[in-house]
Amino acid sequence: MKILKFGGKSLANGKGIRAVIDIIEEKVKKGERIAVVLSARGNSTDELEEILEKAVNNESYQEQLDAFKKYQTADFFGIDFSQEFDTLDKLFEGVSLLGDYSKRIKDQVLSQGEVISAKLITHILKEKNINAHFADSRSLIVTDAQFGDALPLDKLSKENVVSHFEKYNGTTVNVVTGFIASNTKNETTTLGRNGSNYTASLLANYLDAEELQNFTHVNGIYTANPDLVPNAKKIEKLSFTEANELAYFGANILHAKTIIPLIEKNIPLRILNTFDHKNEGTLITSEVNEKGIKSLSVLENVALVNLEGRGLLGKVGVDARIFKALAHKNINVSIISQGSSERGIGFVVEADQAQEAKTILEQEFESDFYKRDVSGITIEKEVSVISIIGQDLSNFHKPYNALIKNQVVPLLFNNTVTGKNVSLVVRKKQLHRALNVIHGEIFEISKKINIAIFGHGLVGGTLVDQILKSAEQIEKRKKINLNIFAVANSRKALLDKNGVSEQWESDIVEKGVSYTIDDIIQYADEHHLENLIAIDNTASQCFTGSYVRLVEHGFDLVSSNKVANTLSFDFYKKLRVSLEENQKQYLYETNVGAGLPLIDTIKLLHLSGENITRIKGVFSGSLSYLFNTFSVEDRPFSQVLQEAIDKGFTEPDPREDLCGNDVGRKLLILARELDLSNEFEDVVIHNLIPEQLRAGEAKGFLEKLSELDEVFQKIKEDQKADHVLRYIGDLWGDLSQEKGNLDVKLVSVPQSSALGQVKGSDSIFEIYTESYGDQPIVIQGAGAGAAVTARGVFGDVLRLAEKG
Ligand code: ASP
Ligand code: MG
Repeated sequence: MKILKFGGKSLANGKGIRAVIDIIEEKVKKGERIAVVLSARGNSTDELEEILEKAVNNESYQEQLDAFKKYQTADFFGIDFSQEFDTLDKLFEGVSLLGDYSKRIKDQVLSQGEVISAKLITHILKEKNINAHFADSRSLIVTDAQFGDALPLDKLSKENVVSHFEKYNGTTVNVVTGFIASNTKNETTTLGRNGSNYTASLLANYLDAEELQNFTHVNGIYTANPDLVPNAKKIEKLSFTEANELAYFGANILHAKTIIPLIEKNIPLRILNTFDHKNEGTLITSEVNEKGIKSLSVLENVALVNLEGRGLLGKVGVDARIFKALAHKNINVSIISQGSSERGIGFVVEADQAQEAKTILEQEFESDFYKRDVSGITIEKEVSVISIIGQDLSNFHKPYNALIKNQVVPLLFNNTVTGKNVSLVVRKKQLHRALNVIHGEIFEISKKINIAIFGHGLVGGTLVDQILKSAEQIEKRKKINLNIFAVANSRKALLDKNGVSEQWESDIVEKGVSYTIDDIIQYADEHHLENLIAIDNTASQCFTGSYVRLVEHGFDLVSSNKVANTLSFDFYKKLRVSLEENQKQYLYETNVGAGLPLIDTIKLLHLSGENITRIKGVFSGSLSYLFNTFSVEDRPFSQVLQEAIDKGFTEPDPREDLCGNDVGRKLLILARELDLSNEFEDVVIHNLIPEQLRAGEAKGFLEKLSELDEVFQKIKEDQKADHVLRYIGDLWGDLSQEKGNLDVKLVSVPQSSALGQVKGSDSIFEIYTESYGDQPIVIQGAGAGAAVTARGVFGDVLRLAEKG
């Protein structure tokens, strides 16, 4: 025998009823033996409660009562509910006259909802020639006289149930009213709200059913509420113990008391969906899951009460006094944490009891106030409790760190004695984000990384396209979901919390809005976006002014823009301090070597204590090409330069390369990596542009390139044999001091040397360290170009995503 229970939502309308009938019919046809337990339809119980309230307050209730009756009869005709409706009419009339009602009366009122619903289903089944029998549970389940929340008397109830099912056995489908019962005086009682589940598990117990199938309107139990966590997954199987934890922490399908009769007889419980009944649902058995199951649940409508005072620390019996005082007034404390904080003691109560709790404690601790052991009792209402069920403390640091990284600092946390359950109190407005962050972390389902890209020129634009193109692959391989929620230029931003599409370029023109940085921050906040990264692909100083603000609002930074690292050392420090304080990261691997793994290598060496004594190399792709070619070909300098310009190897105004500032900046960035506090002014730069050509428009300069020829021809000819020219950056001196020497200059080196061997537009970096001596670590390769740089930025993004 299987017990099928259908909840109010399954029975709410014609569509639901038909689905319920189909399910029953299918089972009957298959020859399965079943009994059906029903709730009242839809919100009937709530409606009846409301009408009762109106009646007792002498308000007019007739309209609502008529609507109630109409609802019950709307979809199906020819069923006689006159008895139930008459009962209701009389009860309400009496209550209205008296201006009062007892719990006993209330149970009589509420019970009609279940009676109507069971009658209806029985009727329809009979019409379909199914041998259905309306079974009023008031003649089956006997309870004590605690109206509204009655306790079943097992022995009597069981006798009734067993003998009833002996009489109506075989092919009969008993359609049993849930929720309602009667006491030994035959007065109607109810088992508490949502009590139909309880009725069903009692029947299962008494009849030794093989399974209890609880039909709901969802596909089962999820790892978190799918309305709040889109990534939530259905749990296929869990144990009663685990289910019990879930019930306790607010999963309203289950209640501890309904599970106990099932555990007693080892009867599996299956949570199914009436509207998708082919789905296997969630199976709950006594079998303990080896790996343990995890899920998140949320308690809302709670408040955090804080008892503050240094004098409480280490004092014996404070908890007991709190519990006792509150219990005395029936206030239930759900989480308590004494932590290590100086805040004192915090605990969670139902929101509507918070004020009362405060008053009670003020009385209880009155004398402690005088002694100043207690300094205050405060209430925080805008909070929620997240429970991570199945989480022990051994790897709790993972979700915890992820929360902190996302700027969610729990107000209080606590783990159960069994150590398999951690609860956190968070601010309500952070609930959404917190849930998604924790969920992503503990289930290692794709972690969503929300990216804002500033600047969509050559590098930025390429980056957007690269990310969009490989997002799917990365999600599959690395379980990282890269979501570009903003693309912005200096005037407009395109915002889409679900990610910009391949048409982002035209979208930004059509749908872009003018914005400030705060708008972007606010957008991320409003949409609960987690794991935020801001990428600077501009070349301007303007945007660097927003770095600190972004960091303070939870963004990690990635930048291909060198400017931020070459502004004053003060700014450099300030940014680092803010990063540290907010536990954020700033990656800029492309600043010096474009796609080459340079910064990372230097950082690693430096951090590991390896003494870097010198860094030297060709840092500029444009100047690399220029001198590599000029050194070995018998052509005037201007001709080679023109060729580099034509190939797009230089900036539109090549003087930006030739002046040496770009190399100077790169060198400065490397120096600062070694904790040297140099300023840009400290860099000694050999400017390759003759004085007379430095001022004026680019156009004028481009017409006078040949004026460069004489100087460079002379330099070339003055070299020793088998030597070549290279424009290098050189960081040297005693690098353990506060500042190092930074030179940017044109040098002549043996063609056979590492520097002399550089080809094309490659960059080369020689890193000299104490332990490697004269043998430098060499990093060499394509050090420029939009695609390479974009790849490098992409690499930084992935590095953050994987770490975070
Ligand atoms: N109809 C009752 C209620 O709404 C019992 C139930 O639904 O299980 O509480
Ligand atoms: Mg219900």
